[in-house]
Amino acid sequence: MSAALRRSAGMDMDIPALPAPRPAWPRLLGWLGFGLPQPSGDFAPTELVLSAANAKQLYLGEIGRFLDTHGLDLTTATLTVAWTYLSRSDEDLVLALDRRIKSGRMITLEWLSDIRERRDVSDEAAELRDLMQRLETSVEEFGKSTREAHGAASDYHSALSGHLGELEQVAKASAVITEMAQIGKAMLRRTHEVERQMLRSSAQTRAFKRRLDEARRCSEEDHLTGLPNRRAFEAVFDSEYRAAREAREQLCVVFCDIDYFKRINDDHGHEAGDRVLRLVAEMLAAVSDDRCHVARHGGEEFVVLLRGQSPQQALDRLDKVRSELAQRRLVNRATDTPFGQVTFSAGVAEVFDYADPRSALQAADAALYRAKQEGRNRILLAGAQDTERAIAA
Ligand code: GH3
Ligand code: MG
Ligand code: MG
Repeated sequence: MSAALRRSAGMDMDIPALPAPRPAWPRLLGWLGFGLPQPSGDFAPTELVLSAANAKQLYLGEIGRFLDTHGLDLTTATLTVAWTYLSRSDEDLVLALDRRIKSGRMITLEWLSDIRERRDVSDEAAELRDLMQRLETSVEEFGKSTREAHGAASDYHSALSGHLGELEQVAKASAVITEMAQIGKAMLRRTHEVERQMLRSSAQTRAFKRRLDEARRCSEEDHLTGLPNRRAFEAVFDSEYRAAREAREQLCVVFCDIDYFKRINDDHGHEAGDRVLRLVAEMLAAVSDDRCHVARHGGEEFVVLLRGQSPQQALDRLDKVRSELAQRRLVNRATDTPFGQVTFSAGVAEVFDYADPRSALQAADAALYRAKQEGRNRILLAGAQDTERAIAA
């Protein structure tokens, strides 16, 4: 690192620790997505500030060495990453950096922003699921108490009318008793009213629950193909992972990508491209069942989860779809021109061969990448080389 850079970062100053905390630090972490969410603003390196506890442990020299070792320029982003890594303050980032370093690949800003994006997507999905869950629980609880209150009111109503009937049977009812009967009748009218309100509330609760279910469905469905979207897939992946692990079953993940799809858009237009996407989605969805889940991961990419299937079985199942699609002679019905051969490539990984579901998905993606390189229109099983790529990614 040059003397000027070291000076600009305050590294030549004779102080062992970084300055005391200032409000810019959380903003800086937030900007990178590794700390509190504070997305705006840019900061000069000298503004880098740390909490008092961390400041005691970390030295600018260490940060400088980290940047030098990895050939990183001095920017607010790289400084923040260096600090986060050295202070071990973000486990996920440290793990990702360790893997990256181990694989000997460069730590670039693109790679860092890619990690950040992935984390944002899964954090958002988890938050939404949690919110939906809490809303649903509240609605259910409200519905339950309304039903109970309704039941109690109608019990009370029958008891009261019974007693009033008995009261009227008393032969020589005194004035006091007559007045009590009148008050009782007024109470009856009121309980009637309360009962009607309860019924209305129950109906509203049911309607609200239906809307909630609908909102949940919409937030998890891909509008173009009707398949579950990436958010829904992440939730299913999570639950299938746990279930398969518990039942000691195999779980395979397949990453599919339509070949040369950009050309279809370029030659036939986006709408025709959409129709092709829907067709591929339909063909893939046809193989799904309660142990095989198909989702649109984004763009022209689909993911499939197969429980209780070996990688070879998963490959065979998807290969039937691949071969059927490749044999179809698709025609753009808007222009009557043929689309030419439409194909997809895919990669298959057995999830429990990897440290976590995310790494398995990366391995399937790496196998897909190889399938593309080897000529497309094929499905490959993830192998050792894909594991390396997955770790490096
Ligand atoms: P490869 O075989 O390497 O996968 O090539 P490709 O052309 O399929 O891949 P590339 O990533 O270059 O292009 C993907 C294209 O998919 C670009 C993008 O415009 C298009 N695409 C993504 N989402 C949609 C969509 O919802 N509808 C349409 N019509 N096109 C989409
Ligand atoms: Mg693609
Ligand atoms: Mg493609």
